[in-house]
Amino acid sequence: MKQSPRILIVEDEVKIRQLLETYLQSQGFEVTATPSASEALLCFAALPPDLVLLDLMLPEGMDGLSLCRKLRAESDVPIIMLTARSDEMDKLLGLELGADDYITKPFSPQEVVARIRAVLRRTARSETSSEADVLCVGRVRINLTEYEVKVDGEPVTLTPSEFKLLVALLRQPGRVYTRLQLQDAALGGAYDGYERTVDAHISNLRRKIESDPAHPQYILTVFGIGYKGGKDSE
Ligand code: CA
Repeated sequence: MKQSPRILIVEDEVKIRQLLETYLQSQGFEVTATPSASEALLCFAALPPDLVLLDLMLPEGMDGLSLCRKLRAESDVPIIMLTARSDEMDKLLGLELGADDYITKPFSPQEVVARIRAVLRRTARSETSSEADVLCVGRVRINLTEYEVKVDGEPVTLTPSEFKLLVALLRQPGRVYTRLQLQDAALGGAYDGYERTVDAHISNLRRKIESDPAHPQYILTVFGIGYKGGKDSE
């Protein structure tokens, strides 16, 4: 069974920190509380939390924004930002920090717990669904978490670029992509000026996926534009 969720609180104001710590513990959470970003990083490494409650304004050293970015760069841990004013929150939303939620001060501890539970529920759900993240189009079956592709039940070996291209095309069959968009989506945006690179990957993919590469069903050419995924009209 899953133990109580562990929450890391990063808040320099003693009163707020203690209030949150006490209240969260009374609600069955494991709590680590720290006043500074540098300590928070140590706590994060020592006892990885299930969620981080992060004050935007931390006085010394690293502020909440930088800490949020740093955590997000190395982890998918859910993060709820605490902010002092609602106009700060508008700014935050524009920054696309990757925080999962924002709470404006003053808040009640009950509200914080409700938001924590909501974020944990949401992230738990997306984890379970991604475990079984399978894309099926006609005879093609793509397991997105195991990077495995089967056609008619037979495993097909694809390069990472081919895999990403196939996923991009078949995730939304019928949607038209330019070569440049595919280059962005599948090849990391390292556009080398040679649209033929995408064409080369596409032709390899067709050879591996299509029963008749000359008359593709899954990877269709849109003349003058690019490619689209087929819906297997067989
Ligand atoms: Ca503060």
